[in-house]
Amino acid sequence: MAILHILRYPDPRLRNKAAPVARVDDEIRRLIDDMLETMYQAPGIGLAAPQVEVSKRVIVLDVSEQRNQPLALINPEIVAQEGRETMDEGCLSVPGIYEPVERAQRVRVKALDRDGRPFEMEADGLLGVCIQHEIDHLEGRLFVDYLTEMKRRRIRKKMEKLRRHTM
Ligand code: ZN
Repeated sequence: MAILHILRYPDPRLRNKAAPVARVDDEIRRLIDDMLETMYQAPGIGLAAPQVEVSKRVIVLDVSEQRNQPLALINPEIVAQEGRETMDEGCLSVPGIYEPVERAQRVRVKALDRDGRPFEMEADGLLGVCIQHEIDHLEGRLFVDYLTEMKRRRIRKKMEKLRRHTM
């Protein structure tokens, strides 16, 4: 397994739409394992492949307290949703920023698991938010896109300054 490099906002590569996975093979399973390791190490509760420069529709999550319930969704798709809810969100690609975002309160998702088998699940609360946030990454959408222009500009400036200091 390996720790992967996480792209940071406003890197333009975060804006690419990711391609569906045609076949779930060992390469995809290795990607999932590396993404999980990277997510746990960060630490974070979710990570999408485009964040680690892989333009494929793969996301991993673990919102459990004990960090022992890894979840991988390949080609995830929201098939139903209900309600609205606002929660504070952060993102490993936008470190140190937490802002309230309104999303569906409950979602039903279909995806393939790491063996390529289709499954469906329902999620609400933190998991529901996290799934919607990660699926957004596959479309090149970031949680800062839901904020006001002024807030987004401020965050962008902060991130650019941070990058200058860390390079
Ligand atoms: Zn994110």
